[in-house]
Amino acid sequence: MTVQEESPAPVLRVRDLVKEYGEGDARVRALRGVSLDVERGDYVAVMGASGSGKSTLMNILGCLDVPTSGTYLIDGADAGRLDEHQLAVLRNRRVGFVFQSFNLIPRMSALANVELPLVYGGIPQAARRERALAALEQVGLTDRVHHEPNQLSGGQQQRVAVARALVTAPALLLADEPTGNLDTASTGDVLEIMDRLSASGRTIVLITHEDDVAAHAKRVIRLVDGEVVEDRRQAPVDGPPPRLPQGEDAA
Ligand code: ADP
Ligand code: MG
Repeated sequence: MTVQEESPAPVLRVRDLVKEYGEGDARVRALRGVSLDVERGDYVAVMGASGSGKSTLMNILGCLDVPTSGTYLIDGADAGRLDEHQLAVLRNRRVGFVFQSFNLIPRMSALANVELPLVYGGIPQAARRERALAALEQVGLTDRVHHEPNQLSGGQQQRVAVARALVTAPALLLADEPTGNLDTASTGDVLEIMDRLSASGRTIVLITHEDDVAAHAKRVIRLVDGEVVEDRRQAPVDGPPPRLPQGEDAA
């Protein structure tokens, strides 16, 4: 795979992305020609009402789904030209996902959950463990590594999910409503981690319909009915946090 041949390329380059579901009368145009670039180190909030196409966009950007037409490059690699296997490799190495519902594997420890992308990536066991522990340290869960998901609060589970997304040192962190199932305190914890990751150079695309959450980003893109209607830069609310996470360096 030739993922890194154009290293100065933006992390994302999206052109005229269209996604239609269904046929005939039942056809839904979920995306109607979305174009955008995301540069390395940016922190983007994608906003929009329910049904505006946010999850559709994220699933395509994360190579979980394919567009009806249009192109998108991830870290310089044209996803439309990759076969299934190459896409799976791109997804595993270049993209970290955080979902609203955490999506941790039950009856597996936090540590084992975080190691999983490295298992798929063929990383040897000792290195896996070291990197997973470092990722869990970044999200403040060093004292919970042997707990299983049902022994953790929602906020802690989402922090495990963030560690799992980070452990491969992806070019892009994609989060779909990551605080949608969390209380105010846990939302604050997760957003603080995102702020720190952003300050340390990570590239983040976070989907949300909440203004308070979007306020943490450097840039806000608004979707209405599958189209970008606004794309603006802003000063993030809290500024860079005081302490940088230790462990893995930024992608
Ligand atoms: P959001 O995440 O902003 O709420 P979605 O991307 O989930 O929006 O959905 C955008 C539109 O596409 C909606 O009208 C939704 O009903 C439709 N849609 C999403 N997924 C599917 C699917 N698998 N099959 C048919 N329609 C879908
Ligand atoms: Mg959604």
